Amino acid sequence: MGYGVYEEPGNGRWAGYMVPAPCDYPGCEAEIDRGLGWKCEEHVEYTADGTESEVEGCGLFFCEEHRYETSDHHTVKPKPDSGHWTAWQLVDDSWEQWRVENPERVAKMRALVTEADLTWARAQLDDPEDDDRG
Ligand SMILES: [Zn+2]
Ligand SMILES: [Zn+2]
Repeated sequence: MGYGVYEEPGNGRWAGYMVPAPCDYPGCEAEIDRGLGWKCEEHVEYTADGTESEVEGCGLFFCEEHRYETSDHHTVKPKPDSGHWTAWQLVDDSWEQWRVENPERVAKMRALVTEADLTWARAQLDDPEDDDRG
């Protein structure tokens, strides 16, 4: 699946540029995705005396506004997957095989997802069930 959708090693979090998600910053509702472009990775920081040092990123995903506020990142807890994303995994054909292989996770996701999210996900499918073309 390349970088489009993958599970992060260690924490099992869904990531990739095809995974829609809110910014991880508390209270921020900016819609981003979990692509590498939004990820806090290793970067250079300058100390008060101007010394350059390489700092390891926290690995969370932030919008344009919060990505560089790295001094706050240590307080940030990862947000759960978006309801839209969870619903998509439950309804899209390309996830059929994964659903068959992961029944326990599917059961947990079904318990979390709302009807509104499922309705949204079904509307994204290429071939909607209702064939109403007027
Ligand atoms: Zn960070
Ligand atoms: Zn943000």
